[in-house]
Amino acid sequence: MSLSTVVGYAARSPGESLELFTYESPELGDHDVRVSVSHCGLCFSDIHAIDDDYSEFAFPFVGGHEIVGYVSEVEPAVSGLKVGDRVGIGWQGRSCGSCEWCMQGEVQLCQEIGDCGTWTPYGGFSSSVVVDDRFVYPLPEDMAPEVAAVLLCAGITVYNALCGFVEGPEQKVGIVGVGGLGHLAIQFAHALGNEVTVISSSPGKKDEALAWGADRFVLVGDKAAMKQLDYCLDLLLCTAHGDIDWEALFMTVKKRGRIVLIGFPEMDFNPTDLVAHELSITGSFLGNRATMQEMLSFAQEHEIKPQIELMRMSEVNEAIQRLRDNQARYRIVLVNDIESPAP
Ligand SMILES: [Zn+2]
Ligand SMILES: [Zn+2]
Repeated sequence: MSLSTVVGYAARSPGESLELFTYESPELGDHDVRVSVSHCGLCFSDIHAIDDDYSEFAFPFVGGHEIVGYVSEVEPAVSGLKVGDRVGIGWQGRSCGSCEWCMQGEVQLCQEIGDCGTWTPYGGFSSSVVVDDRFVYPLPEDMAPEVAAVLLCAGITVYNALCGFVEGPEQKVGIVGVGGLGHLAIQFAHALGNEVTVISSSPGKKDEALAWGADRFVLVGDKAAMKQLDYCLDLLLCTAHGDIDWEALFMTVKKRGRIVLIGFPEMDFNPTDLVAHELSITGSFLGNRATMQEMLSFAQEHEIKPQIELMRMSEVNEAIQRLRDNQARYRIVLVNDIESPAP
């Protein structure tokens, strides 16, 4: 078998369990590198893609986009990377390079973003992936691979939202939800110098939230405690999904304050308070390449670490079930135990 024969875990059709699948990976383009996967995080967006919720990807589908590994093949046009380098890759593995957003360096807003995922055509639940070298990041030397894997997707997602929309330090930032994204958002918001209020529906997460740097923990169902938050927050970062009591949350935000979404929650609300309080709702998606590098350094400097369950890649279906059942605490990273094909 050649280096381009890859073994991965694929869903043959939407919603199915993953099974081993051998495929020919695409030829490397001029700026491409092949990265042999040592670790790959499991993200809720992998599950959305496996379930075909985006109606965007071809099947058999190999997910996985929080990748740490080693460069195993480089094209001559690639500079700055060589075989054997330890690197990481996040959700985005390429960009069109010519749209107005790519020209501004805001590559995460590329007009062709649907085709830019690291999992197109095949992702990181596999022996190797091929991506554009501009989306391959050298990692801080002392950063554990599983930590880097999660930061490359969940980390950049929360860091970009906080840096992009929080107007300076010492702001009153609310974090809704203490899960894979939320537990990192608490740590980043605290390290950025903000006053952090966590709003959660799980009383059992209070001690952990405070230990990660939250100044205050409020249960969304505690009406008296929620009342004390009226017009309190400059910004509310929503990391939760599912049903959310938006009208209760709107009341916690100062007039002309901002609500930032980084997940895909249900949105069903009466717009009266939104209008009368002149609130803004915005989304935030990944981050550009400079922000990714800045985030990795910031996380290393401030010792920001996701809480991780390590599993083997051969346990990917059990891992997916844990995430579907909301049992993961808080991110799962798969250690690759696929035998790479012999060269
Ligand atoms: Zn992800
Ligand atoms: Zn573009």
